Amino acid sequence: MPDNDATDAGGSRAREGARRTPARKGLVVEMTQAQAATRRGEDTDGAGAPAVRWRGEDVPVIGSYDVVVVGGGASGSACGIRCAMEGLSTLVVDRYSLLGGSATNALVCPMMPTYVDHLEVLRMVEGGLAATGAPTRDDYTTMVWFAPEQLGMVLEDLLYDNGGQALYDATLVGVVCEAGRITHAVLSVVEGLVAVAADGFVDASGDAALARAAGVATSAGDEEGANQVSSLRFTMGGVDVERYRDYVLSLDDHFSPLVDGYFFESAMVAGRGFKLEPTFRRGVEAGILREEDLRYYQTFSLPGKPGCIALNCPHVASMRSNTTAVARTAALREAHGTIRRLARFLREMMPGFEGSYVMQVAPLIGIRESWRVRGKYLLTEDDYARQARFDDGVVKGDWYIDVHSNKKGLYHNNTYRHGDYYEIPWRSMVCDEVPNLAVVGRCISATFLMQASVRILPTVIDMGDVAGSACALSARSGVALADLDGSRLRRFA
Ligand SMILES: Cc1cc2nc3c(=O)[nH]c(=O)nc-3n(C[C@H](O)[C@H](O)[C@H](O)COP(=O)(O)OP(=O)(O)OC[C@H]3O[C@@H](n4cnc5c(N)ncnc54)[C@H](O)[C@@H]3O)c2cc1C
Repeated sequence: MPDNDATDAGGSRAREGARRTPARKGLVVEMTQAQAATRRGEDTDGAGAPAVRWRGEDVPVIGSYDVVVVGGGASGSACGIRCAMEGLSTLVVDRYSLLGGSATNALVCPMMPTYVDHLEVLRMVEGGLAATGAPTRDDYTTMVWFAPEQLGMVLEDLLYDNGGQALYDATLVGVVCEAGRITHAVLSVVEGLVAVAADGFVDASGDAALARAAGVATSAGDEEGANQVSSLRFTMGGVDVERYRDYVLSLDDHFSPLVDGYFFESAMVAGRGFKLEPTFRRGVEAGILREEDLRYYQTFSLPGKPGCIALNCPHVASMRSNTTAVARTAALREAHGTIRRLARFLREMMPGFEGSYVMQVAPLIGIRESWRVRGKYLLTEDDYARQARFDDGVVKGDWYIDVHSNKKGLYHNNTYRHGDYYEIPWRSMVCDEVPNLAVVGRCISATFLMQASVRILPTVIDMGDVAGSACALSARSGVALADLDGSRLRRFA
């Protein structure tokens, strides 16, 4: 695709002033003397501030970095932390006000169990969580437990303590490209539009927002475009967890191995033989619950918060495609009603919940899967089945193919023994279209089914960690992210 070729920042092209170039996917990318000079760190406009031309507007450039990470979720934060540890000037941009993404703002916890070696940033994160005094481990599983806001603050500390920075309340709205590379991310912030410049960019937005803005090919959903079911999580306080656990265990419910200790987990999925289902059915008979409310119910303890639990529900199965704001809003509206019904049912009919109350409804809907980048390598369910190994395998994954499907109910492909794993190649984290872009987290290049395995927290944190190392290697070597030899990024034999 032709692009702006004003690569000589101080040369004739810059002196020619504004030049319009062919749009990428509806983006108007313009180059001005201001932009060229900005890359040299010069003041350029009348007010003495650098600016870049975007869609006919001079957008002030508020910073220039080695790396800008768009999306401060688990993967983006890990990437920012690693970049900062490598000495790169690093900015992590997020539209919310605390790092952690889905894990903090969608109240997603704990980290699902895995049985493979993980990388350093994940260990640092767990260390930071443990330093808060709250337990991170139970006696029975390999889950890492955390309270959502604690994770966000630990990530923030790790980013800043290593010299990185965050920019909160900043939503990516577009990019400026030059010679096929992203030069600036354009952000909507409280004062209007601003831009940040960088040599390398990482899309950790979950929704592939940066990649889409830059014209990278993506897909969303299954073969019919149906995304995984989204959920709106909430938390409850005032729960007598011991009384609740006693009740669940009295039903001969063996879903949770956590038969004693601080942590407890429980679940009920209609029609799957869960021992809690008759209790929920009584809620329907009493007119408190609706049939669809029984679709998926799951609870987890919250470390450091006795009497509080996190609920991984309700499922919003009515939203087949989550790729529009209108669809997400309708889903939220529906889920708010479901949460009211569930909370009332639990309070009135579930032993242990008599004095309970809703503490928090997630401010962010839990999106399991939306857009996925089409990268240099498309990771597939066949790679899961064959426990794929790659020369450029950089992350180990072992979570099963865990699809919360609108059509099939739950689709679980759980074939691995502890210690089995597949590798995620570096090529599934970079693309052909934009050389200085890496993609991490739940929107990497994977099929619908395979994404359902790679998406869990320990795996996406490892992706961010590796991508941070890649940014450092790219900066040192001058080789673009997409052209790096991924075998140099492997940290395991
Ligand atoms: C309901 C639900 C339950 C789950 N349960 C578990 C579980 O129990 N354990 C587990 O390990 N995993 C679980 N997962 C999976 C896991 O939580 C996610 O896959 C993981 O958190 C994704 O991390 P990420 O960094 O890729 O994306 P996210 O955490 O989603 O982060 C993306 C970030 O990008 C930001 N962003 C997006 N667009 C823009 C933009 N335009 N401008 C600026 N910022 C932007 C967002 O604000 C967000 O902070 C669950 C997921 C869901 C949805």
